[in-house]
Amino acid sequence: MITFKNVSKIFANNLVALENININFKEGELIVLKGVSGSGKSTMLSLIAALQKPTVGELIVDSNHISKLPDHFASLYRRDNIGFIFQRYNLIGTMSVADNIILPMLPKNMDEKLLEIDLNRVLKMFNIEHKRETLVKNLSGGEQQRVAIARSNIASPKIILADEPTANLDEKLSLEFIEILKEMKSANRTIVVATHDPLFFSLDFVDRVVEIHDGKIVV
Ligand code: ADP
Ligand code: MG
Repeated sequence: MITFKNVSKIFANNLVALENININFKEGELIVLKGVSGSGKSTMLSLIAALQKPTVGELIVDSNHISKLPDHFASLYRRDNIGFIFQRYNLIGTMSVADNIILPMLPKNMDEKLLEIDLNRVLKMFNIEHKRETLVKNLSGGEQQRVAIARSNIASPKIILADEPTANLDEKLSLEFIEILKEMKSANRTIVVATHDPLFFSLDFVDRVVEIHDGKIVV
């Protein structure tokens, strides 16, 4: 479903962030992308999200050549297919939980009743219903992450990308995130988690741990 074909990403000053990546992620798979800081994990995620384009090679998602999409279509692709869980939650502190979660849906001009159904589904799924009208700035770190995850799931994206999701969490909340991950997997999402947290390396519901080192996949 997600195919990297001879993909390289080279930044200014000849910095090779990714070098000739060839890999395929299947639909419904949960992949852990493992690697030390600077190895190229975030760059791989941003290519899948069409936030950046490869310098060389192709990225194919569901038979769409997303590396060739003009910017406007790249953002539509992202809106309709990708849920991104950032290390920083990118929430708006002065808005309520509910208003933060529905943000990605606003450009769709959906019927309010249908939107309410989607909102209630993710509020329940990520156990944040009771905080629905609370301003995000008044939530704990773990609650804020659940809001961010709910937001990334509201459009039922086929693909979930999580970049260092436990980097700012203590052990208890990290374990909670693992449970959330399991839940998203059972909702049949294709999930890629970029992390160097060992917690993810031996989970029985992870399909594959892919290691990346200096922009290359370790085989
Ligand atoms: P990771 O997420 O594994 O820590 P990244 O994908 O963020 O690694 O970065 C891989 C390499 O590419 C690093 O050397 C990083 O400094 C470099 N890099 C990432 N993004 C940019 C950018 N926008 N401009 C220049 N260099 C970048
Ligand atoms: Mg990173």
